[in-house]
Amino acid sequence: MQIRPFHLSRRRLAAWYTSIMVLILGGCGFIIYRLVVHAKWLSLEKEMRNVAVVVEKWLQPALVGTSKVDLTVEPIASAFCFELQKCDRPSIPDSTMGTGFALLDQTEKDHYCVRLLDTKDHPIAILKFPFTNPVCQEPQLWETLLDSKGNYYHNKVYMIQSRSQDSWGSLQMLRAVTDLDIYLFWIEICLMVLILSSIGLAGAASWWLAGVAMQPVQRSYQQMQQFTADAAHELRTPLAALKAMAQAALRSDELTPDEAKETLEVINRQSNHLSTIVQDLLLLCQMDQPTITKTFSPCCLNTLLQELVNDFIAIAKTAEITLDVLIPDQPILMVLGNSDQLYRAVANLLSNAIQYTPAGGVVTVILSHGATHAVIQVHDTGIGIAPEDQPYIFDRFYRVDQKRTRKQGGTGLGLAITQAIVQNHQSNLQVESQLGKGSLFKFRLALIKEV
Ligand code: ADP
Repeated sequence: MQIRPFHLSRRRLAAWYTSIMVLILGGCGFIIYRLVVHAKWLSLEKEMRNVAVVVEKWLQPALVGTSKVDLTVEPIASAFCFELQKCDRPSIPDSTMGTGFALLDQTEKDHYCVRLLDTKDHPIAILKFPFTNPVCQEPQLWETLLDSKGNYYHNKVYMIQSRSQDSWGSLQMLRAVTDLDIYLFWIEICLMVLILSSIGLAGAASWWLAGVAMQPVQRSYQQMQQFTADAAHELRTPLAALKAMAQAALRSDELTPDEAKETLEVINRQSNHLSTIVQDLLLLCQMDQPTITKTFSPCCLNTLLQELVNDFIAIAKTAEITLDVLIPDQPILMVLGNSDQLYRAVANLLSNAIQYTPAGGVVTVILSHGATHAVIQVHDTGIGIAPEDQPYIFDRFYRVDQKRTRKQGGTGLGLAITQAIVQNHQSNLQVESQLGKGSLFKFRLALIKEV
């Protein structure tokens, strides 16, 4: 289920992703469109130049002097329409036109209007053949580049030479761009459809991506909420006991010395429990802050574990448990770490081992090594942990048997703290356990010097 603030953040994130995608796709689409337009114009102008060359070659035998036409040269002379009067199309067979014109098909010929200009750019004649488009005779076409059918024309002027290779005047060519307009219109439609469907897909992908991105945040938020609820629950129990004892003491008119002692003992026990929970929580918080926890110095594991075992001998004896120690005097195993934290980590394991081993059992602390690593193991012959509980015992406040561990004063934070410390030392705490047979907790630490 989605929590409301996360749902809002997901929507915002997806909106941002989509907007960025729209910008990128829109930008790419625009660039592609401009490139297509540019390429089309280039090929159109190339085509116009080619046509101009063909027309000039065909006309040249009739071009004489400066802007004069030799009207005796047929069939070229029949193709000129002077003074821009209404001209009929002459019946000149295509076969007399030469090979250059054969390259132009009829539609292309219809796209063109050509007229001749003198050296001062005054129009002399319209070429009524081989270009057959009747709108070429509309006078306003040459001014507005727009014919009566609403077609736009592209205008180009080319210098031409007479048959004696002197400068004769120029050739003004108009080329209808209707086909280009239609082509670009379809390119625009295709790009639009492509961009819109890409935006739709990008929107869906963004929504999914935002969901994936939010998952770890949401998970850690839920874990934090769970942790806060668990911590409040843990703190509430001793607080409730303290409150109940204080109220009972206040209600009774006179407490006997035994009752007063009992009340104070409960208050003392519960406040000790409370302070243990608070200290454990603070320690866990410190573990989460890498800058505070990384105050490492060389530690001698042999000494550290020996001191720890000595501190637990009395507790094990009281619990009627045999505490075995397999810690070699040599070699000295030195690791880089925080000795207080390492002491705390193994102490948690040892105290659990004693706590969850019935009287008469055996708890063993073993220090062994490989070439580059020391291995610390705490083994017990206690009640063991069921396989289904093993994945959760390192979670904060997780207890296999709630009633039993609470009664024994456990906070449910011991293994979480040990795991945090061990991970802080770049290692991992492992457990092997069999219900009713016992448990083994172990972790490795990198040695400063190889042994
Ligand atoms: P607690 O303060 O309750 O001992 P821990 O985090 O140290 O909390 O341990 C979590 C749970 O794992 C304990 O409640 C207990 O059920 C189980 N556990 C830990 N160590 C052992 C062990 N050596 N033998 C059996 N059960 C254990």
